[in-house]
Amino acid sequence: MSEQKEQITVLGATGSIGVNTLDVIARHPDKYQVFALTAHRNLQLLKEQCLRFKPRFAVITDQQKAELLKEVLSSHKIETQVLSSIEDLTMVASHSDVDTVMAAIVGAAGLLPTLAAVKASKKVLLANKEALVMSGSIFMQAVEDSGATLLPIDSEHNAIFQSLPEHFVSGGIQSCGIENIVLTGSGGPFLNKPLEEFASITPDEACAHPNWDMGRKISVDSATMMNKGLELIEACWMFAVKPADIEIVLHPQSIIHSMVRYKDGSVISQMGNPDMRTPIAHALAFPERIDAGVAPLDFMQISQLTFDKPCFERYPCLKLAIDAIGEGGNMPATLNAANEIAVDAFLNEQIGFAQIAEVIQQVLSQTSYAEVADLEAVLAADSNARQMAQQVLNDIKLYKR
Ligand code: NAD
Ligand code: MG
Repeated sequence: MSEQKEQITVLGATGSIGVNTLDVIARHPDKYQVFALTAHRNLQLLKEQCLRFKPRFAVITDQQKAELLKEVLSSHKIETQVLSSIEDLTMVASHSDVDTVMAAIVGAAGLLPTLAAVKASKKVLLANKEALVMSGSIFMQAVEDSGATLLPIDSEHNAIFQSLPEHFVSGGIQSCGIENIVLTGSGGPFLNKPLEEFASITPDEACAHPNWDMGRKISVDSATMMNKGLELIEACWMFAVKPADIEIVLHPQSIIHSMVRYKDGSVISQMGNPDMRTPIAHALAFPERIDAGVAPLDFMQISQLTFDKPCFERYPCLKLAIDAIGEGGNMPATLNAANEIAVDAFLNEQIGFAQIAEVIQQVLSQTSYAEVADLEAVLAADSNARQMAQQVLNDIKLYKR
């Protein structure tokens, strides 16, 4: 094995982004070597991935499953060291032999390991938008202090990054002659569903995204458009822009992945088939370009590209997110945590689809603004919001539609 290969830790290897990342890595065995893989519960898939990629470490955050994995791997004479604690996630994200970390754990659980990678000045490929939404200025300050390289995996942010001028410096949109950023979103599976039918939406219907195949939490976020709200917040921090600098446009075909509008009238966009291997390969190889296994965009097959304005009556979560970043402080972390609890309750059929927004709205209205000066304050805002959301769920006892 060559010393020069880029050593990669994939946090959340068994998820949709993790699997796509390993697909791209496997296409370039001369360039990349898997250093560590992590998973939460999916022992079977993590085992298969370890057998295939033979990482130095595998972390599964379930003690019993870690024991099982150790046995299986040793029976196959695989020397992967199996670990299971939260600290081990941080260790594999910040280990001195690691070059690049794919941050693809879903939700707030990804914050500490992702931040550890940033503080250890790794090249951090950020899929875990919730980490940045929660900790905004602290996260970006850590990027600046450590000199870490932060590259966006979210397809929209990756598209924006590709459409910005090469000399773009954070905070410089005006000086770069940029008018605004156009963040596109498909509108999810319920773009045209009559509002009176929202009460009977099932988790499987909400997870059946028309264009993207993703994990269940982000699929529900796409259906409520909370995902676009989280992405707006993510973009504000990542590109140092204000919410007013971002225009959200519905684009149901998911061919244009976002755009940058310049003062001279030019609009630069990035297009491609909706396949996450494109942004993953872009960020992995940046500034080079590598094969991602993605089918070429066939213009003859695209009958039309359409655009529309999102309506807050259909997508109340989007409005809650815009308001939360407008208020700032602890509000984005509160929004994110309440959303995680509400989406989980919806996926477990404890509340209906339309009640996701209600739970988040109640938590936000019960929360007073506070500054978040450090990570402790972020974690406190997260934990308070989770408790409140749980209380709201208990109080409304909206069991079953
Ligand atoms: P997923 O549910 O498919 O996978 C999540 C991964 O995180 C799994 O490997 C799981 O084992 C791990 N995980 C879950 N809970 C954990 C915990 N408590 N501790 C440690 N590990 C845990 O999710 P996904 O769709 O791959 O999304 C991952 C992240 O990427 C999310 O933040 C999502 O918003 C973002 N993202 C995903 C897509 C996509 O196409 N799937 C696109 C853009 C951004
Ligand atoms: Mg996205």
